[in-house]
Amino acid sequence: MRKRIPVAGPSITELEIEYVSDAVENAWYSDANIYNERFEKAFAEYIGVEYSVSLPSCTSAIHLALAALGIKPGNEVIVPDVTWIASAAPISYVGATPVFCDIDPETWCIDVASAEACITKNTKAIIAVDLYGGMPEWDALAALSEKYGIPIIEDAAEAIGSEYHGKKAGSFGVAGVFSFHGSKTVTTGEGGMLTTNSRDLFIRICFLRDHGRVPGDTSFQNAEVAYKYKMSSLQAALGLAQLERIDELVTKKRKVFSWYERQLSGRGFLSLNVEPENTKNSYWMSSVIISPELKCPKQELIERLRNEFGIDSRPFFSPLSAIPAYRQLGFNSVNRHANLIGKQGINLPSGLQLKEEEASYVCESLLRVIAN
Ligand SMILES: *Cc1c(COP(=O)(O)O)cnc(C)c1O
Repeated sequence: MRKRIPVAGPSITELEIEYVSDAVENAWYSDANIYNERFEKAFAEYIGVEYSVSLPSCTSAIHLALAALGIKPGNEVIVPDVTWIASAAPISYVGATPVFCDIDPETWCIDVASAEACITKNTKAIIAVDLYGGMPEWDALAALSEKYGIPIIEDAAEAIGSEYHGKKAGSFGVAGVFSFHGSKTVTTGEGGMLTTNSRDLFIRICFLRDHGRVPGDTSFQNAEVAYKYKMSSLQAALGLAQLERIDELVTKKRKVFSWYERQLSGRGFLSLNVEPENTKNSYWMSSVIISPELKCPKQELIERLRNEFGIDSRPFFSPLSAIPAYRQLGFNSVNRHANLIGKQGINLPSGLQLKEEEASYVCESLLRVIAN
C-alpha cells in the first residue's frame, strides 16, 4: 500500500543535527546565548530589518508587540477574519477587543477597504496576515496606517521568504512576527521571532519578555511585572541551521506549488494561491478553493481524500468570527468573502519532503473526488 501523504513536515539535514548537538554540549554559562545571538543577527539580515528577537512562539511575539504598543482594555484591534486563531488570540490577552474584517477574494489576505470601514476612535492597531505565503496590498496598508496614525503588526508566520515589491515579508509593519512551529517552512520545533526597525520597540520588547528587567540585569530589581518569553539555545541552533538553508527551503515550497499549478490551474471550478505582479509567494501551503457549484464542501473533500486515497489535507481557515471560541463571545460573521472562501478551500500536502510523483497522485485523486 502507498505511504500516507502528510500535509506538512520539515526538512532536517546533518547541518541541523550538528548545530543542535553543539548547542546542547556547549551553549551554557557565559556562552548560553551564542546561538540565539547568531540566529537573531542572521534573521534580521535576511529580512532586511535592524532588530530581531527570538521567542518561544509567534503567539508570544504578537502578545509582546501588542503589549509594547500599549494596547489595553477598551482598545480595538482589526484583524482579518480568515487566519489562524493565533493572529487574534493575543488581542484578548491584553484585554482589547478584536474586530474582524473581510479578506480579498484573490490574495486571501486582509481587504484594505474592509479594514478601513472597521476603524473607529478606539482602533489602536491592525494585524495584517501574509496568508499561506501570499501578500496583501502593503502599499495601500501603509497609506491607511499613515492616514489614521494606526500601527500595523505584520503576521508573517506563514510567509518567510515571500516578497512585496522586492522587500521581504516581515519588514512592513512596526513589527513583523514569525512562527517556527513544526509545520512551518523554517522550524525550531516550536519557536518564533519578532522583527522591527524601531529601537524603542526593540528595547521595550526585550524588557517585557524577561520579567521586566533590562538585559544584563543581575540585581533582581524588576521594574515591572511582565512576561517570560525566551527561546532556548537548542531551538536557536536548529533555527540557525534552517536559516542557512532558507533559499533551498523556499525554492522547494515554490516547486511544490508549481507541480500543483501545472495540473490544476486553468480549470474554472478550482482556484489556487495567487502571486500578483511584483510579489513573490513562498507558498507555505499550496491551497485550492473549489467552486460552490460543485457542491463539495471542504470537510467532505478532506475525509474522502483521507479515506479513499490516504492523503492528508487541511481545511482552509474558517472565519474566526464563526468558530465557537468567538461565537460564544457574541461575534457573528458578516464578512462575505471570508464566509465563501472559508467554506470551500483546502490546503494540499505541502511538506518539504513531498515528491513530484506524490503531487501528481494528489491532483488525480482530487479531480476524481470532485468529479463525483
Ligand atoms: C502558525 C501561525 C501563528 C502562530 O504560531 P505559533 O508559533 O504556533 O505561536 C500565528 N499566525 C499565523 C498566521 C500562523 O500560521
